[in-house]
Amino acid sequence: MNVAVCVKQIPDPAAPGSLQPDTKNLVREGKLILDDSDSYGVEMSLQLAERAGGGEVTLVSMAPHEETSGLRTALAMGAAKAILVSDDVLAGTDALGTAKVLAAAIKRAEPDLVVAATESTDGYTGTTPAQVAELLGLPSVTFAKKIDVSDGKVRVERQTEAGFDEVECPLPAVVTVTAGVVEPRYPSFKGIMAAKGKPVEQLKVADLGLTPDQVGVAGAREEVFDVAAAEERKAGEVVVDEGDAYERIIAFLEQLKLL
Ligand SMILES: Cc1cc2nc3c(=O)[nH]c(=O)nc-3n(C[C@H](O)[C@H](O)[C@H](O)COP(=O)(O)OP(=O)(O)OC[C@H]3O[C@@H](n4cnc5c(N)ncnc54)[C@H](O)[C@@H]3O)c2cc1C
Repeated sequence: MNVAVCVKQIPDPAAPGSLQPDTKNLVREGKLILDDSDSYGVEMSLQLAERAGGGEVTLVSMAPHEETSGLRTALAMGAAKAILVSDDVLAGTDALGTAKVLAAAIKRAEPDLVVAATESTDGYTGTTPAQVAELLGLPSVTFAKKIDVSDGKVRVERQTEAGFDEVECPLPAVVTVTAGVVEPRYPSFKGIMAAKGKPVEQLKVADLGLTPDQVGVAGAREEVFDVAAAEERKAGEVVVDEGDAYERIIAFLEQLKLL
């Protein structure tokens, strides 16, 4: 089974980020890393291909400056190859523009299944994978915590607030995975060395049959008007046990719908 997995390469969250003063877009310069959210998609895809007993995992990414650092991490985990779309005309591309680019790149991989994360870490809308599915005319299943593939169908346990739904649809389909569903493997030394030689197909927007007015600032339907600092975290409540602490903690957890 061939799986295409969307992999976003993002600025390292451990380093202080900055915004471009005019566009308020995140500055994406220097080395980018594999989005932690997407490491779950990569792991899930590798496991599905292994369980199917054949096929391969192809990474698909859109990133500035022909950046491949994040892709190399995912290749070192075991993906076979990558498609990278990088082009100056992509500056300012919004979620739908990104979906157009990813959908066109995914088509080239002719996958049986497309996997993405539910939302990215660096500035998410959580809309891109569903847009990719629509553009490809494929079914879309979101918030997957378990995926099984057999008989040309994908069966998904889909996380809900109350538990999970069981969803089944024909392949090919686009499935987004929830963070934490699988334990992403660490790339081995052998994997890291092998990743250096794995193919990364570098594409421009024109290679995908797209025109510059469909992407970048020209094609964007979203604009960042304002940016506000996140509220500071409030201090937690200290519960002093006077014999009823467990009752108060249970009531608190119930209020949060955690129990
Ligand atoms: C107004 C605006 C301007 C922007 N300008 C730029 C810019 O100049 N340069 C720039 O690099 N980005 C820019 N971005 C961000 C970029 O377009 C995002 O990658 C895109 O909007 C995807 O949306 P998201 O991050 O909300 O993805 P989400 O919907 O949160 O992503 C969910 C999943 O979709 C997949 N995915 C999303 N994006 C990518 C990707 N790029 N490659 C592979 N898989 C992906 C991943 O699996 C990801 O985990 C801009 C965004 C906006 C809204």
